[in-house]
Amino acid sequence: MLTERLYEEDSHIREFSAVVREVRDSVKGGYDILLDKTAFFPGGGGQDPDEGTLDDIFIDRAFMEGEEIWHHSFAKLKPGQTVSGRIDWDKRFSRMQNHSGEHILSGLIHNRYGYENVGFHMGEAFMEIDFSGVIPDDDIRVLEDAANDAVCSNVPVSASFPGDEELAVLDYRSKKDLEGQKIRIVRVTGIDACACCAPHVAFTGEIGVIRIIGTFPKGSGTRLHVICGLKAFNYLRDRNNEFSAIARSFSTAQEEAYNSVIRLKDENEELKRGVSRLSALLAEKLTAEMTDITEKNAVLFVPKAMGMPQARDVAVFGAARYSGVCAVFCGSDREGWRYVIASGHIDLKAAADDINSAINGHGGGKSDVIQGTCSLSETKLRRYFSSAELDAYLMG
Ligand SMILES: [Zn+2]
Repeated sequence: MLTERLYEEDSHIREFSAVVREVRDSVKGGYDILLDKTAFFPGGGGQDPDEGTLDDIFIDRAFMEGEEIWHHSFAKLKPGQTVSGRIDWDKRFSRMQNHSGEHILSGLIHNRYGYENVGFHMGEAFMEIDFSGVIPDDDIRVLEDAANDAVCSNVPVSASFPGDEELAVLDYRSKKDLEGQKIRIVRVTGIDACACCAPHVAFTGEIGVIRIIGTFPKGSGTRLHVICGLKAFNYLRDRNNEFSAIARSFSTAQEEAYNSVIRLKDENEELKRGVSRLSALLAEKLTAEMTDITEKNAVLFVPKAMGMPQARDVAVFGAARYSGVCAVFCGSDREGWRYVIASGHIDLKAAADDINSAINGHGGGKSDVIQGTCSLSETKLRRYFSSAELDAYLMG
């Protein structure tokens, strides 16, 4: 038996009164409740089902079964009783703002390029809309402007069920998942006509703002990330607050913040190049000072302040002078050591287990460099490397 769909008559009905027709155990646990009429949208056209309450019980979702709309709850109602229904209006209105904004953008894109909306997902954070062709980056701003012009024009958004004859001559965008159903046409006056079952705003002005926050290639088409309405306002407020915090941290005006970040990035890259040059010089100096322990292996204990990237430079630089390995340690007997061992001749990847077990260490890497930690004393480390015989791992 058909449930009267109040949301189709008027998408702005938040509260209603209805009679409970049937209550059954739900396959998902709890109960399914059938009413004679409802303002709960059961989901469809990319829009989630409504939540809300019937009297004081919470309805976590409504769903369609044939022509009936059921309401799921973990509390029970009695058949025959009259209940007051109330939908979660904040969630519903936000969905209507976003979904209606999607119609406007899809209509504008269809009119301009002939592209179809071939994928639509209303996520928690933003909508993902896929179009069947490439939208040039330069056009995004133009489209966004046109969409927001449509919002400012505050034109009516209406829904109707045209007869077959009217449908046959009507130019409208059609969503595949509605095929075979009675076609409901949603019109944004002067912009779009589209087959859709969901509730939308009544006037475009209710959408408030339409913002495209991302564009991506998707197959041979384009994917847009879009936010509308209060969600867009909150998103823009958050980004604005972050931007303001960035500006404050640079003690500059918001208008200057972008340039400040770019300058910082350039300075950072220059500093990195400087550190790298100094690191190479230091590696050269430390390597020159190495007192050979054997003809083959070198071992070096560097200041704790030295970073591992620099220790690695020293090890690699030193390895070039020895036929064995160059082992560099950073740390102390008490706290343990971080190590980098490099070699141009010994396959360290293969030798790592033997070395780790000898120095009470953990670590690994590639055949030319291994890194890790160990806890042997400095004296014992020196002793090990003075006699370590790793020729078994000589490379080709
Ligand atoms: Zn729709």
